[in-house]
Formats: sequence, C-alpha cells, structure tokens
Amino acid sequence: MAEEKPQHGSLGGLVAGMREGHESGRTKELEWRQAQLGGLIRLITEEEDAIFNALHEDLGKHRVESFRDELGVLVKSFRNTLQNLKKWVAPEKAHAPLISFPCNALVVPEPIGVVLIFSCWNLPLGLALEPLSGALAAGNAVVLKPSELAPSTAAFLAANIPRYLDAKAVKVVQGGPEIGEELMEHRWDKVLFTGNARVGRIIMTKAAKHLTPVALELGSKCPCIVDWLDSKRDCQVAVNRIIGAKWSTCAGQACIAIDYILVEEQFAPILIELLKSTLERFFTEPEYMARILNEKHFDRLTNLLKDHQVASSIVHGGHADRKTLRIEPTILLNPPLDSDIMTEEIFGPLLPIVTVNKTEDCIAFLKPKPKPLAIYAFTKDEMLKQRIIAETSSGSVTFNDAIVQYGLDSVPFGGIGQSGFGQYHGKYSFELFSHRKAVLRRSLLIEFMFRYPPWDEYKMGM
Ligand code: NAD
Repeated sequence: MAEEKPQHGSLGGLVAGMREGHESGRTKELEWRQAQLGGLIRLITEEEDAIFNALHEDLGKHRVESFRDELGVLVKSFRNTLQNLKKWVAPEKAHAPLISFPCNALVVPEPIGVVLIFSCWNLPLGLALEPLSGALAAGNAVVLKPSELAPSTAAFLAANIPRYLDAKAVKVVQGGPEIGEELMEHRWDKVLFTGNARVGRIIMTKAAKHLTPVALELGSKCPCIVDWLDSKRDCQVAVNRIIGAKWSTCAGQACIAIDYILVEEQFAPILIELLKSTLERFFTEPEYMARILNEKHFDRLTNLLKDHQVASSIVHGGHADRKTLRIEPTILLNPPLDSDIMTEEIFGPLLPIVTVNKTEDCIAFLKPKPKPLAIYAFTKDEMLKQRIIAETSSGSVTFNDAIVQYGLDSVPFGGIGQSGFGQYHGKYSFELFSHRKAVLRRSLLIEFMFRYPPWDEYKMGM
C-alpha cells in the first residue's frame, strides 16, 4: 500500500521519529545493514516487472535499457557492497608516532545519523537506490525524497520500500519542491541532492542553517573528443558507443550523457555519415529510444533549435512531436558557440558537433569552460590521453567509451566545481555517509614530563 503523503507540519514528527530510531542503535548493527542490502536486492529482483512498468510510464524506457542502466547496475552494486561491508566497517589501524608510545590509533567508521536523499527523474530508480544503499550500508536512518516528475517510480518506491526494508528507519516522502523545501527546514546529519544547480543552491543555503553537510550531484556539459581512429572497425565501435551514450541512455537525458562532440574539421563528414547510418540501424522502432520527460522539457529542447543559425546547422533529424514527446536523434554541425545549445546543458537527444583545426586544440577549447561531470575522448594517442588527464579538470575522464564509468563500483562518481561535490558509488558511498572517528588508546604506564610546564631551560633546549 502506498505510504501516505505527509501533510505540512507532520514532517517534524517524522524526522524526530527517525532520529529516535537511529539513536536506539539498531541501524548500526552489521546484521541490520546486511539485511537492508538483502532487502534491496529482493526488491529489485522480485518486483522487476512493476519497475519496468513504472520506468516505461515515466519515461517510455524500453525494458532492456531499464535493465542495463538501472536494475542491473543496482543489483551488481548492492551485491558488491554486501560482499565488502564487513571489511569496510572494520576499524582501520593508523600509525601512531613514537612520541605517543604506548598508543594504539584507529580510524573507526561511524554512521553519520539521519540522512536525507533527493533523487532526480531521469534515472528515477538508480539515483534513488544507489545512494540509499550506501547510506544504509553505513548504518544510517534515511528519508528518500524521489522526484515528483517520475511519479510512477516515486509511487513504486513509496509502496515497496516499507515492504522490503526496515520501515521505521527508511521512509519515502513523496512531493514536489514545497515538500523538498519543508524537509530542508529540519536538521539532517547529511543531505545528498541530485538535480539542477539552481535547486542545489537552495538546498545548500537551507542546510547551512543547521550546519548540515551536503553532497550535490549536479549537471554540466560533458564534451566528447573524437580523434582520428585509423581503422574502419574502430570508427564503428566509437560511433556505437557515442550513440549508446547519447540517444540510447534516456534519450540523452542523463547527467553524464555526451553533450557535444569536438572533432577535427576534416573528419567531421565521415563521423556524421557513420552516425547517421548507425542511428538508422539501431533505432528501427521509435520505442527503442526513451521519450522526453514532459511538455516543459520538450519545449525547452525544441526552443534550443529555434534560433535561425542553430536551425540551419542541423545536418540530421530535427523532427519533434509534442503529442508523443519524441524528438528525433538530431545532429548539428557548428552551431554558434554563444547559442543556448552550446552554453546550456542540453539533457536531450540533440548532438552538436564542433570542429577544431587539430585534435590537440580541444584542450584549449575545454580549459576555460566550467568543469564538467565527465570528459570523454575516443583516441589511441597516448600523449593526448596524458594531456587530457593532466591539463583538464572534470569529475571523471573516460577514454574510448562513455557513461560506463557510472556502472563501476571501484571508482568514485561525482562532480567538481559547478558540476557538484561529494562522491559516491561502492566504497565511496559508504565513506560519504560515514564519519571517520579517530580513536586513540593510550596507557597510563609511561609519562613524559617534558610535555608540561614549568618551561625550564632544559625543556627549552630540547
Ligand atoms: P528534479 O526536478 O527531479 O529535481 C531533483 C530533486 O529536487 C527532486 O526530488 C525535486 O523534487 C527536488 N526539488 C525541486 N525543487 C526543489 C526545491 N525548491 N527545494 C527542495 N527540493 C526541490 O530534477 P531536475 O532539477 O530537473 O534535474 C536535472 C538536472 O539534474 C540536470 O542538470 C542533470 O544533469 C542533473 N543530474 C545530475 C546527476 C548527477 O548524478 N550528477 C544525475 C541526474 C541528473
């Protein structure tokens, strides 16, 4: 049964109840944490069909795409956490200098307390459950606020989380910005927010009132450099992966989707032809690509194409149907660099290609731009790879693929600068939601009196 939406004023009681539950110590037990992770795995596997339906209702996602990007990634991640949790919760021995002898120093991970997670609509299951699993693994009580813009998934989470997880320590609160703002009036021990930077600022401002630490997972324009790949096969692999990371991942409505391509002028025509022919082979049915979230986002995207100079740069696609909320995979060649499509995050199935004289020029192009969540480069040139790593800054860099870094539990996921801060996934989630407590155990046996006054000449000469 769906959890009742709390009325204004009742949230205080909910937060207080969560705090009480956390302070009882139940959530700190390793067995409790393991049981929650087991519950999450069962939630995904037993409710697979309901999840596929919800994701289809919210975004028109095909079940194979939903499995690849959400359910599959999540189950793999939960299993990894479950497998490693015992190791992660164990106190770590730390070096204690001779001066403190005898001393035993440890770093003990401690649950941070009561956590609030805001998730976003584009991966409405993944962006809710991935951080939730980390917060539970770290032994916290959690309130999850799913995005109201993916209402079927939000309702699914509200109805099923209490069935699979400890309903006293994990709550789902449904609602829009007003509920989000009201939640932020309360004191939390950590807030993780996924969404746009405007709301990120509101969250941070409100969190400051209680000195609550926040992690912000925001958006950006992720560039993709395409260097000359000398074999036909390699070019084809690169194009498959570009299409995978642009149109086949929620129709480009993904924070780490390729936003635009940078390529040498002489290679652009070959790249465009290969993109066109591969798109034709991949998207034989319209429903193989997700739809645009809603009319507001559809209008935002089609408005990006309205500018005369932008419209005249379209070299493929461009057709859009407001009734079905579908926009054809669209490629643009050299739209003006000061147009909205080149200055705002696109978050949709439009792909500008910007040409440069030499591939190396891409680095100078990227350097003054805000730091994105990801930089991608298809290249075999080791020197170029080294230069990209050393001379640019971004949440991540992936060579010869895109988006796949999201699925790795072994590397941190998060932004830098305007794309956000605070990293999670795998052990990084556990760390994000834990406090690392320094624990020193000393003995009373040996005492060095030089620590104390009076500061006589002997001590001053030491
Ligand atoms: P959204 O509308 O789903 O908002 C995100 C969350 O913020 C929701 O839970 C929403 O209810 C809540 N919210 C909205 N207004 C609020 C307010 N005033 N106070 C408190 N809470 C409020 O998502 P969106 O903003 O449309 O997200 C799109 C952006 O998110 C893009 O920029 C995208 O790149 C970014 N994003 C980032 C990541 C990442 O992991 N870095 C992932 C997905 C999306």
